[in-house]
Amino acid sequence: MRAVQYTEVGRPPVVNEVAVPEPGPGQILLEVTAAGVCHSDLAVMGWSADEFPYPLPLTLGHEGAGRVAAVGAEVRSVSVGDSVVVYGPWGCGVCHACAKGAENYCPRAAGMGIMPPGLGRPGALADYMLVDSERHVVPIGDLDPVQTVPLTDAGLTPYHAIRRSLDKMYAGSTVVVIGVGGLGHIGVQLLRAMSAATVVALDVRPESLELAERSGAHHVFKSDASAVDKVRELSNGEGASVVLDFVGAQATVDLAAKLVGMDGDVTVVGIGGGVLPVSFASVPYGVRAGVTYWGTRSELIELIDLARAGSVSAHVERYELAEAPQVYERLHEGRIQGRAVIVP
Ligand code: NAD
Ligand code: ZN
Ligand code: ZN
Repeated sequence: MRAVQYTEVGRPPVVNEVAVPEPGPGQILLEVTAAGVCHSDLAVMGWSADEFPYPLPLTLGHEGAGRVAAVGAEVRSVSVGDSVVVYGPWGCGVCHACAKGAENYCPRAAGMGIMPPGLGRPGALADYMLVDSERHVVPIGDLDPVQTVPLTDAGLTPYHAIRRSLDKMYAGSTVVVIGVGGLGHIGVQLLRAMSAATVVALDVRPESLELAERSGAHHVFKSDASAVDKVRELSNGEGASVVLDFVGAQATVDLAAKLVGMDGDVTVVGIGGGVLPVSFASVPYGVRAGVTYWGTRSELIELIDLARAGSVSAHVERYELAEAPQVYERLHEGRIQGRAVIVP
């Protein structure tokens, strides 16, 4: 089968021929129907050899959808032919966090050598992929896998970040989204579906601001210092009750610290390496600052139900598997709108 692999630190990914894996006990083999391309892969491929944590070659792709092609012994909840998406942040399955479904915060996974597909384990950018447990698939029935696959990360990550600040997204409050790419545009849709807040989207690309508007943002502004006054003005001088930063660069975390109002939340989701300047005097009183990673199993199930209800619909650019290396280039150059999805 074909697999898009990162083979050597610093070199672009290539399409290789590899063996189709066989599912062991408890495992599921998927014939991949769609795989999303996330900006985090660019960060991973930017790491130096010294800090690179995964075995190479690495089959990329941590947003996966597929049809069950074979199941190992003891798999009972899915059958051959089922259409599913993959829950990516695999945990140990038995600790307190995992018992709550928060495998994204499993404190034992790393120590046990458990890694997500595409981020350590062979990922979804291939003709077939192996899923380690039936816990990590969610059936999608007749939903279109190409439309649905971005929800596993570009949807789940903002959903999780929004949910933990939902009490601060009341009618009359202002929520700011910084960066309206794969994650951000679904984030804007989710904010409209889940809250009564006024949604403001910031980006540096006009195409992304257009997508933000189409995704339901009430206001869109260029992401620079001028946004601070605009947000103050439309929030009656109060500032944002929640800022979600889907870039995480120094410029955007600095901006987020200026946009947030008293007792507000700043959540940094983007892994742009910026350091949020939080001290007693640098942000308004009561500000809660944090970072989030991916989302929980139950949140992915909720999100698939939201998609079934028509409340969220990813903007997708469709590509073939052989084009994947070029898709990463396009993503790097800022030439993808919404989410690029590879269809093997
Ligand atoms: P993307 O490339 O699809 O979108 C990025 C968007 O940010 C683009 O619209 C771009 O124009 C905009 N942008 C870039 N610089 C900006 C700036 N200075 N100000 C405002 N906007 C700016 O990326 P994506 O796949 O949506 O990922 C977004 C970020 O989230 C990445 O850093 C990615 O690694 C990270 N991520 C984090 C998690 C997590 O669990 N925390 C999960 C997935 C992705
Ligand atoms: Zn990702
Ligand atoms: Zn665990």
